[in-house]
Amino acid sequence: MALKHVIETERCKGCGLCVDVCPKDVLEISDTVSAKGYFPAFQARPDDCIHCTLCCVMCPDVAITITGSEEKTAEKTMEEK
Ligand code: SF4
Ligand code: SF4
Repeated sequence: MALKHVIETERCKGCGLCVDVCPKDVLEISDTVSAKGYFPAFQARPDDCIHCTLCCVMCPDVAITITGSEEKTAEKTMEEK
């Protein structure tokens, strides 16, 4: 199943812990302020993400999740028919 890395911008406080922990240098802090007044993390290089989950574990605000891609799942279901 294809995996999807999602950062919930409104939960992120821009602490930068995920940016530091990422072994693939995928994440950066945005220069655009969120509705809550923080500069949130974002995937600057999403193609380099290996879905290791280190950023999810590190985030104190549980703002990052990795889920199975529903889009891909739907495609697979179509192929199986
Ligand atoms: S899942 Fe791993 S590789 Fe992907 S952004 Fe998080 S720490 Fe980096
Ligand atoms: S560790 Fe969490 S709160 Fe901190 S910058 Fe990353 S996503 Fe935002």
